[in-house]
Amino acid sequence: MLEKGSRILVTGHRGLVGSAVVRRLKGSGFESVLNADRNAVDLRDSRGVDQWFDDNRPEFVFHVAGRVGGIWANSTQPADFLYDNLMMHATVLRAAWRTGVTKLLYLGSSCIYPRDCPQPIKEESLLTGPLEKTNDAYAIAKISGLMSCEAYRRQHGCNFISAMPTNLYGQNDNFHPEQSHVLPGLMRRFDEARKSGAESVTIWGSGSPRREFLHVDDLADACVFLMEHYNEPGTINVGTGVDVTIRELAETIRDVVYPEVKLTFDTSKPDGTPRKLLDVSRLEALGWRYRTSLKEGVRSTYDWYRSNQASLRAH
Ligand code: GDP
Repeated sequence: MLEKGSRILVTGHRGLVGSAVVRRLKGSGFESVLNADRNAVDLRDSRGVDQWFDDNRPEFVFHVAGRVGGIWANSTQPADFLYDNLMMHATVLRAAWRTGVTKLLYLGSSCIYPRDCPQPIKEESLLTGPLEKTNDAYAIAKISGLMSCEAYRRQHGCNFISAMPTNLYGQNDNFHPEQSHVLPGLMRRFDEARKSGAESVTIWGSGSPRREFLHVDDLADACVFLMEHYNEPGTINVGTGVDVTIRELAETIRDVVYPEVKLTFDTSKPDGTPRKLLDVSRLEALGWRYRTSLKEGVRSTYDWYRSNQASLRAH
């Protein structure tokens, strides 16, 4: 059982998810939250990771580090997305098994479900059909991570669990104009348009694909909940169970950032998968539900973005 004094490793502690999990743990009084800083260890390097686990002996691991990116980054750098994600879970899970970690949580991603599976997507849809082409390499790496959790559980009896979050957003997200996901990408574009007084903002694709968005603080809360209550081999979806079109998302961001501006759609950019909504009934039946509405989340993320723009630019 997770206790206030447990030694808890959160990988990727500077990233969107890792930083939220650290905030959530520290906010609840967990005293021994460890991180494997990039300067101390490269998570793709098996020897370095083994050494780090031998030296630090975590009891619980939130393995939430990953190389992530939006549709453009994934479709132009598939080899990097596959290599980095594959290597990171291969090293961390093996070291966790070898040093007798009590429990480990691994995160998949909703894009690893087949492109055309029935919506909302149930956990059982995994590996039932072909993947969406724009992120298939990333998806294969993540699927192998889920499978690794099950394999360590089957072969060695490890309590390794996995969860499948939907599209996430919030503070410490990547706001890069091309590499980011849609929500932070558009937030930045609307903000720049507001500053320059532009008349319109361009949205990639047709605006008709549907996506579900979960605030990362809600995800962090769900991760801790699962670490405390979930011990099954199969993965479990984490989302809101509600989706919007990209046009509706753009309108929500516009209303917060720059209400006067017009929207235009660049249909030369890919739409990606038409719909990606998770069925969250399994998680709700365990007693967990999201709290932050999209509107509230966009507002607080934009406040954070505005106060941190200077340091974001420095990176
Ligand atoms: P996906 O969920 O894996 O497809 O990843 P994204 O978050 O990158 O994209 C979601 C949808 O938003 C796709 O249909 C994109 O074409 C669309 N989109 C519209 N404008 C943007 C933008 O500025 N950046 C990104 N990344 N996607 C955008």
